[in-house]
Amino acid sequence: MKKTIKDYDLSSKKVIIRCDLNVPMQDGKITDETRIKASLKTINYALDHKAKVIILSHLGKIKTEEDKENNSLYPVSVRLSELLGQEVIFSKETHGPELETKVANLKDGDVLLVENTRFEDLDNKKESSCDPELSKYWANLGDIFINDAYGTCHRAHASNVGVAKLLPNGIGFLVEEEINKLDEIINEDTHPYIVVMGGKKVSDKIKLIENIIPKCDKLIIGGAMAYTFLKALGNNIGGSIYEEDSLSYCKNLVAKYPNKIILPVDTKVSSSLDSPTYIVKEVGTFTDSDIGFDIGTKTIKKFQDCLEGAKRVIINGPMGVFESPLYQEGTKAIYSYLTTHNIKTLIGGGDSAASVKQLGFDGKFYHISTGGGATLEYLEGKDLPGISVINNEE
Ligand code: ADP
Ligand code: MG
Repeated sequence: MKKTIKDYDLSSKKVIIRCDLNVPMQDGKITDETRIKASLKTINYALDHKAKVIILSHLGKIKTEEDKENNSLYPVSVRLSELLGQEVIFSKETHGPELETKVANLKDGDVLLVENTRFEDLDNKKESSCDPELSKYWANLGDIFINDAYGTCHRAHASNVGVAKLLPNGIGFLVEEEINKLDEIINEDTHPYIVVMGGKKVSDKIKLIENIIPKCDKLIIGGAMAYTFLKALGNNIGGSIYEEDSLSYCKNLVAKYPNKIILPVDTKVSSSLDSPTYIVKEVGTFTDSDIGFDIGTKTIKKFQDCLEGAKRVIINGPMGVFESPLYQEGTKAIYSYLTTHNIKTLIGGGDSAASVKQLGFDGKFYHISTGGGATLEYLEGKDLPGISVINNEE
């Protein structure tokens, strides 16, 4: 078990919390504050225990001086202050005298948010390359380091891994919940254990398939991913998205696991995404101009039958182009089946999490993982550097 924030006496200590405040912004306005809200539990815990809180976070990617304008954490500090119900001191500097003075003046129960850690990337990618000097500089600002930025745990950057190496450390509540829930669903020995994959690219998910297919009982494949499999099996898929380079991989996988891999039997096709209508066609009857955007009615039934009695399910990737009202049905039908049958389901993947929200299933699943890449790598069986670096409990 990893050390957590609860293992430390935080009173009067300068506690550096690495949060994931990487919220989507448009014209300087926050368009989704989920990540800020998800950070509150750990921040509030530290404040309740009289810590001097110093928050580090990144926001977007910083490649040019202009990127700084659109990726300042200042608007986040304003919203965070409202949500915490107290002032959030903001340091425009990621290093330098302003930051040092603000840290030195912190009183117990104060919060300081430091500007986007990736501003340091303009100087030889110091943040993203885990520069030792920068790590040391930030570590010197605090007494204890808490990693609560689950979304960046698959990266070894100065603000998560670099600082953690140099201070007494632990994980925050958000990271703790994520890894506990993921571990539970991956390791629990209950069956049927079913994985549902969708989304776009097979190649992005080959490692995940490799790790998961020997352990699960069925692998259901929908979304655009399914067309690479269907084409590999000799079907005409018309103009549907597929990956040439993954064809032989898919063919071999189906040959190796003929009873585990479950594929669509019909799909909603149209000549383009902009067209106002679609028709449902059986696999094998596509014409060259048909493009598949969602699973069809028979497939929905087939997938639901396959999920019957499941003890645990992992979803990674939507069944269709859920962003369009015409092609939500497949994804919705799967979510609806899982939630009405109370099947223990973990949702992983950024777009999958977005689809759950958009389709009205928020709060209805066992767990919706907040980290896209981090969760994918965890499910691939990889160690996440942001978690490995944290000390284990004695
Ligand atoms: P996640 O982020 O959950 O891992 P992906 O990034 O792999 O999921 O894929 C999500 C995207 O896949 C969505 O934007 C969705 O529109 C798209 N998608 C799903 N089915 C299809 C399809 N049949 N054709 C084109 N795009 C699709
Ligand atoms: Mg995605």
